[in-house]
Amino acid sequence: MSVCIKSLIKNVNLIVGCDIGCPYCYARNNCRRFHMTDDFSKPVFFRNKLHILDNKQPHVWFMTGLSDFTGWLPEWREEIFERMKANPQHQYVFLTKRPERIDFETDFDNAWIGVTVTHRNELHRIADLREHIKCRHYHVTFEPMFSPMPEDMDLQGIDWVVVGTETGKRRGKCDSKPAWVENILHQTSMRGIPTFMKEDLVPIMGEDRMIQQLPKAFVM
Ligand code: SF4
Repeated sequence: MSVCIKSLIKNVNLIVGCDIGCPYCYARNNCRRFHMTDDFSKPVFFRNKLHILDNKQPHVWFMTGLSDFTGWLPEWREEIFERMKANPQHQYVFLTKRPERIDFETDFDNAWIGVTVTHRNELHRIADLREHIKCRHYHVTFEPMFSPMPEDMDLQGIDWVVVGTETGKRRGKCDSKPAWVENILHQTSMRGIPTFMKEDLVPIMGEDRMIQQLPKAFVM
């Protein structure tokens, strides 16, 4: 039975806000609905939440559920990575859509930095990730998907792939097609890359075709 990714990877929303402006952004809607900040386009650091990382029970934390990694101010990043250093019991997952805007390096073995790719025109983000961010673990999320991907993607160095579909009720919402998902699954299985299909794919793919693999470090 498929599980919700949120039951495995917990959001810790230290930074709220992002100025990229994706039309399908659920984070912006949540921010408005729960009045988290006055203006979602201006990221805010909730330093008072840092103590959550001091939890001794190991967790996989999703650090950018309501932000984009490259939208963080350098001093916020430094402070957060200091706290991560003090808490090596966890794994930390980050996502960005504009890796070309940063030059960042970490040797933390528990930092997983990745890019979101929603269209084949955005595949350059994977190369940009490798070029501009030096870290031990890279990952890619294909969600939402607005086009099929090529059959020969360069997934060199990628340690985890997540695949999903657009959720919500946006006008013009685009469902991932089974063939698009199968193409990605074929390429990741050929390369032995663990791949996680998000639970929203069940109605599209059927429960029997669901694969929900995690990197070994995430199994706690
Ligand atoms: S990058 Fe993420 S947080 Fe920023 S607008 Fe797009 S979906 Fe929202």
